[in-house]
Amino acid sequence: MKIGGLIKFTLIDYPGRVAAVVFTQGCNFRCRYCHNPELVYPHLLQEAMPEEEVMAFLRHRQGTLEGVVVTGGEPTLQPDLLRFLADIKKLGYYVKLDTNGSKPDVVRAAIEQKLVDYIAMDLKAPFEKYSLITGVEFEQHALQESMDLIRRSGLAYEFRTTYDKEILNDADIKAVSSLVQDQHYRVQECLPVAKEKAALKVMHAEL
Ligand code: SF4
Repeated sequence: MKIGGLIKFTLIDYPGRVAAVVFTQGCNFRCRYCHNPELVYPHLLQEAMPEEEVMAFLRHRQGTLEGVVVTGGEPTLQPDLLRFLADIKKLGYYVKLDTNGSKPDVVRAAIEQKLVDYIAMDLKAPFEKYSLITGVEFEQHALQESMDLIRRSGLAYEFRTTYDKEILNDADIKAVSSLVQDQHYRVQECLPVAKEKAALKVMHAEL
């Protein structure tokens, strides 16, 4: 696992649970508002954190923390994600997976192998505007498949959209919510990217 960071305690990232957050490195999207460029752009990646360090921490906090959020970057790009999730589950933690939904085969395997308890998937925009947010080509059928898998999983889940008002409008949000058509949909504010992070992104764009 390529791990870029660990938050040791959070009350807000796993609904209803006291949790830690593990950040994986690498992403196949390039969202214009991404707040974690140091986990996304190859030239900004720091040396990965040893997985054993994370596991040692989780072993130490068994019985204190309830859950682990695995986020990114995009966790489903990690070739050993399923094994990592299984190791966390063996310690008795609830696991929440955050994903952009681009790898439905990994989402399916995680669900079928009972390695996750909660899945949060980003819905960036109505499909016709998706690339304006993500900056890359995308496979609509893959996103749709992930959505269907998550909705049928029987697990706790949420879909969420970051409302980037430079690209999206209220009609777009309504269109996205109609794709989901349930109460598990959340719209979050698009916070300004910190100045130094924006500068890093500009630097990348100029490379
Ligand atoms: S999918 Fe998430 S981590 Fe990847 S670029 Fe978009 S906001 Fe950043």
